[in-house]
Amino acid sequence: MSKWENNVRRVVPYVAGEQPKNQPDMVKLNTNENPYPPSPKVAEALQKISIDDMRLYPDPAATDLVNAIAEQYQVKPSQVFVGVGSDDVLAMAFQTFFNSDKPILFPDITYSFYDVWADCFRIPYRQIPLDENFAINPADYAQENGGIVFPNPNAPTGLALSLDVIEEILRSNPDVVVIVDEAYVDFGAESALSLLGRYENLLVVQTFSKSRALAGMRIGYAIGNEKLISFLQDVKYSFNSYTMNRTSIALGVAAVEDEAYHQQIVQKIVETREWSKEELKKRGFHFADSSSNFIFARHETIPAKELFEALREKHIYVRYFNKPRIDNYLRITIGTREQMQKLFDFLDRYITAVSA
Ligand code: PMP
Repeated sequence: MSKWENNVRRVVPYVAGEQPKNQPDMVKLNTNENPYPPSPKVAEALQKISIDDMRLYPDPAATDLVNAIAEQYQVKPSQVFVGVGSDDVLAMAFQTFFNSDKPILFPDITYSFYDVWADCFRIPYRQIPLDENFAINPADYAQENGGIVFPNPNAPTGLALSLDVIEEILRSNPDVVVIVDEAYVDFGAESALSLLGRYENLLVVQTFSKSRALAGMRIGYAIGNEKLISFLQDVKYSFNSYTMNRTSIALGVAAVEDEAYHQQIVQKIVETREWSKEELKKRGFHFADSSSNFIFARHETIPAKELFEALREKHIYVRYFNKPRIDNYLRITIGTREQMQKLFDFLDRYITAVSA
């Protein structure tokens, strides 16, 4: 090892779900993307993008997008922070708010980027085990800590927390920032936005990647008390002023403004999810009740890894995590009804073959 290597910041990176080349028969249910296109208003806005404008830097404050989000959620623009996907927003929030010597707290089974950011930024952390039903016990978060983060609904379990439970966590933690990662909230959980007036230490993070079908444009945002948002901005402007590009800002505005379409595609996904739950049960799967756009399921006899590989061979992609406690589960994103039917048809053939 060369001496300079002693000075390297070594990290074990987050591994994102596979993005396979587009195969004609591909059924992609592995990264919780939306199976529907973004709003037609986004397509219209794209037509209006000027090539000449690309010479110019974007608005560092992404004012149009901030205003559109503020209008949609009935908050002040000074309460909104935007970034390049909620990953960017969360990473900035970790840097900004988690600067204690005490460990930050998050569940042991959760979004697997949290421990990666904590390691990368040298933030001490403690992972709090979910109970045997994958539930978060709020009493576990009533201990000394340097901050708290959890998704609602949780990922990859899909389980939602009630607002009462979130409020209990907030009540016992007035001295640290509590981040609620609401990447999947639109699919069936209650947003903590309604608690903002009462808790100045609450930061709610959401994304355009899931319910608004814009994962490819990388747009995320945080809503919180003005003071929290201004601290976040200070860190962002100390790092990179122009994080959001012009196209993302313009298309993001068009997407937020079409709330009717947003509701319509969310509704379709929720209907397909409820139908999929029944179809999975019929085929011997067990899962916690999902309020998200994915189902985290295990089969009563077939090992998850084996099924994952068999599906992959047929170009049906789901997510498998080779990690303690969850290595016999598959996380299956809810696609269109037709895509889900292809999955169920495959499962019927596979289950018949292995039980023959
Ligand atoms: N939070 C959770 C819980 C997620 O699952 C994801 C998606 N990987 C994100 C945040 C980040 O999504 P994005 O950066 O696309 O907004």
